[in-house]
Amino acid sequence: MGTGEEYDVVIVGSGAAGAMAALRSAEQGLSVLIVEKAHKFGGTSATSGGVMWIPNHQLEPGDDSREQALEYLDSLIKVPVQRERLDAYLDTAPEMARYLKTLGMPLAAGVWPDYFPDLPGARADRSLVCDTFDGRELGDKFPLMREQYTRFKLLNRYALDLPEFFSISTRGPGWIKALLKILWRYWSDISTRLISSRDRRFTQGGALMGHLYKHVFNRGVEVRLETRLDELVVTDGEVKGVRVSHFGRSYEINAKYAVILCAGGFEWNQELRDRFLPVPGLTRHSSSPEDANRGEALIAGMQVGADTEHTDDAWWIPTMQMPAPKASNFEEIHQAAFDVGRPHSVCVNRNGVRFVNEACSYDEFGEAIVADQLESGANNPCWLIFDATFRAKFSAGGFMPSLIMPDWLISVDAWDHYIFKADTVEGLATKIRLPVEAVRQTVANMNNYARTGVDPEFNRGANDYDKMFGDPTVAPNPCLAPIDRPPFYAVPINNGDLGTKGGLKADARARVLDANGQPIPNLYAAGNNAGNPFGNRYPGAGGTIGPAMTFGFAAANDIAERASGGA
Ligand SMILES: Cc1cc2nc3c(=O)[nH]c(=O)nc-3n(C[C@H](O)[C@H](O)[C@H](O)COP(=O)(O)OP(=O)(O)OC[C@H]3O[C@@H](n4cnc5c(N)ncnc54)[C@H](O)[C@@H]3O)c2cc1C
Repeated sequence: MGTGEEYDVVIVGSGAAGAMAALRSAEQGLSVLIVEKAHKFGGTSATSGGVMWIPNHQLEPGDDSREQALEYLDSLIKVPVQRERLDAYLDTAPEMARYLKTLGMPLAAGVWPDYFPDLPGARADRSLVCDTFDGRELGDKFPLMREQYTRFKLLNRYALDLPEFFSISTRGPGWIKALLKILWRYWSDISTRLISSRDRRFTQGGALMGHLYKHVFNRGVEVRLETRLDELVVTDGEVKGVRVSHFGRSYEINAKYAVILCAGGFEWNQELRDRFLPVPGLTRHSSSPEDANRGEALIAGMQVGADTEHTDDAWWIPTMQMPAPKASNFEEIHQAAFDVGRPHSVCVNRNGVRFVNEACSYDEFGEAIVADQLESGANNPCWLIFDATFRAKFSAGGFMPSLIMPDWLISVDAWDHYIFKADTVEGLATKIRLPVEAVRQTVANMNNYARTGVDPEFNRGANDYDKMFGDPTVAPNPCLAPIDRPPFYAVPINNGDLGTKGGLKADARARVLDANGQPIPNLYAAGNNAGNPFGNRYPGAGGTIGPAMTFGFAAANDIAERASGGA
């Protein structure tokens, strides 16, 4: 059934890629509709850390350059990628960031080392973060934006920005003051408390998407929720619109100039995971919002002849699945990335041996799980083992440090089902059914490395990225300290993800290509719906949202140029 509705541009999916494409299209005078399958807009992007990796952004004084960024990417990327797409990224990403800045978005460079800081061309000033946003500025759309990831909020209620998150979860300097400020700000906001339990202070990905959507709505873009893309409408080889369903009603919407697919990856589609990923893992271990990104738009693209690339990989992040009966996946998933590199701990596979520098970036950790699982068959899950000092100092397995959340506050059904505890390392290994001698030896090795400060196996703590997760009070190596104070604990780690890396093959202008490398007329893709421009790599914090927004921006520019008869 057609409704006769027509927009210049129809965008599928309301995450960072979709919002950026919508904003830039509307800015250039095009009429825009976003169709969003979920009951809230913002996608994984709104739940995320909201960091964007934008090399050579030029927003602040610095000496980064296009050449240096390319040097880094060239030394990093080891699979064939589209060179023009990489070039387009390096040219367009800074342009996109400057555009956001001219709109008044409060962007600033955070101090994040690139994820491979030892490679030539690496820096620590390419990750942009967005300052907080007052959610009430969205008016009646305030409650309709997706909420922050559970673990990025304190007690699943109070919004935390990145410095607060790090300070409170590690009991860093000033953490009590930060905590009191957060509580006061929330409870003294009487007008918001009367309408919602939601914190009006949007932080991290909420801040990025809040600021973006303020501009999107101000330009008259409609976001139609609960509206799922089922298939693309094609006439005479050209994409002419979308067929969507809304509470069971199926109808078509025409797109005069283009359809931009920004519907995320396929992480919530077990069948596609099994088909594409070498070690598929379970949908439920993903940390993206439950059941949203099921790859329908990837399939719709493939059905009209689109090629794909890099579908054998995901943006990995090790996760732990807390026992939270009756809770959604979103509440039970804990991203282990913030636990595994801390001192007084070690990660082992099910043979009781190490397989990775635990303090490396989360995507690299996931790659190591995949490689070890393929080689040893004894990974995914693997285990984090730590001692009482770790438990007192750091959050672990989704539980705050024992000073805030002592063991007796952890529910009885978690003990010896999710988090295991014993008075000796040997007792712990027995409980979790790992080879006792291997675990004892691994822990003894780590204790030796802690004394010398050198990890001869994996070089843990040797670079600036590793040290971010270390403890500055620990010497000689902030990432290595003895695992020697009972009781000892263990929590299983699965190879979770933030989404998938591969998707429709799109070119430098975000046009979707067919098997012959030709653009499919009027079809574009950005974000995780398209292939990662960096192939199988994750260069630095913001390495997924940076390209998602950049190619959303590039798509809009190309469409506006065509619409004005320019190309
Ligand atoms: C907790 C967490 C923290 C993260 N932090 C960062 C970070 O700081 N920096 C970074 O770069 N990356 C981060 N990531 C990863 C990042 O969030 C995602 O890779 C990125 O947001 C993907 O953006 P996107 O626009 O492609 O997709 P999404 O933001 O996932 O949006 C896709 C949208 O499409 C909708 N959709 C799906 N199918 C359909 C359909 N058939 N019809 C209509 N709509 C559909 C979905 O409901 C969703 O709203 C994080 C991820 C998580 C989970």
